[in-house]
Amino acid sequence: MSFIGQNTLRTKQLNRTLVFQTLLRLEAPTRQEIAAFTKLTPATITNIVNELMEYGYVVELGNGVSELKRAGRKTVVLGLNEEKKRVAGVHIRSDRVELGIVTLRGKVLKSTSFDLPATIGQDDFLELLTKELESFLQENKALPVSCIGVGSVGLVDYESGRILEAEHLGWENVDIEALLSRSFNLPVYVDHHVRAMTLAEKMFGACKNQSDFLCVYIGQGIGSGLFLRDQLYRSETTGAGEFGHMTYQPGGKACWCGNKGCLERYASEEAVVHELNMDSITSVLEACRNGDADAVQALRSAGGKIAVVLSSFINMFHVQKIVIGGDMAREDGPLLLEIREKANADSFLARKRKVEITTTALGDQQGIIGAASIALLESIFTVSINK
Ligand SMILES: [Zn+2]
Repeated sequence: MSFIGQNTLRTKQLNRTLVFQTLLRLEAPTRQEIAAFTKLTPATITNIVNELMEYGYVVELGNGVSELKRAGRKTVVLGLNEEKKRVAGVHIRSDRVELGIVTLRGKVLKSTSFDLPATIGQDDFLELLTKELESFLQENKALPVSCIGVGSVGLVDYESGRILEAEHLGWENVDIEALLSRSFNLPVYVDHHVRAMTLAEKMFGACKNQSDFLCVYIGQGIGSGLFLRDQLYRSETTGAGEFGHMTYQPGGKACWCGNKGCLERYASEEAVVHELNMDSITSVLEACRNGDADAVQALRSAGGKIAVVLSSFINMFHVQKIVIGGDMAREDGPLLLEIREKANADSFLARKRKVEITTTALGDQQGIIGAASIALLESIFTVSINK
């Protein structure tokens, strides 16, 4: 039961959000289809659509083909005016930062990235980030942004916009929201990078129609985000989702988190590169494409290890779909094929009803789109409306 009151203004905002979400979910819907989908009255939908058209967020795309046409009803289809507003997406990994300018429909118009030195203190990091973001936005000043979304590694407190801790980088209590909003004079929203990607899969990607799903991202470490009953799961302070720190090998390799045998010590990009004694994940993937048996086997083996932990997860949360992201998880690549087969075979519940396991629909820009999606949801789709 909810004890939150619904005053008229709040109801109006909620209905407006529903219309935005429906426009993202359905391809070019008519007003009638939006009404049927949201279960709001046609009059309410007409009012909201008129308002959103007046403010320039929604446009009529032309006539659609519909059963209703025969009944003599208006069948104009609607769409988001994609570039009415743009946001900046900042994806902070341990080894590099990706920057992008993203539209209302999650399309990346421009992007760039820069590498982080192996050890960089938080003050130097913030200085570098501000400088790089400033020059990126300046180069693309013909495409101004209305706010900034940040998806970062580490323990991220979404409410305060801080990176509480990125122990492996030696960062602590990084007030990134305050710094960026001061430097750029724009609203800034911060969340964990994999939770942000999870939100993006729901808004723009492979899970628009799923109410319960898991996203796993394999990078330097392994993280995850969980959608349950149409809500992005965030625990009180730490955010949860530390998939890479679930135990794969009790008493195994020491992990920076303080435990031993964590999955990411065996199956992350870093682990695979180290195992093959190669210089980067790019070289590993290149070797894999050229049919190098060792590289293919290393990816398959990493997939098998991820599947061990994943099958336990499926027994606990039998979600409908699991999205695996990161450069190692290409569709029909050895890692994904192994995860798909083994996780479904080894989970008792998945043997009763198979779980769909797929790669991200957002490609190698999932980090940027993820970061942008927090800003889009918070600043445009749920709250403000202005010209
Ligand atoms: Zn660990």
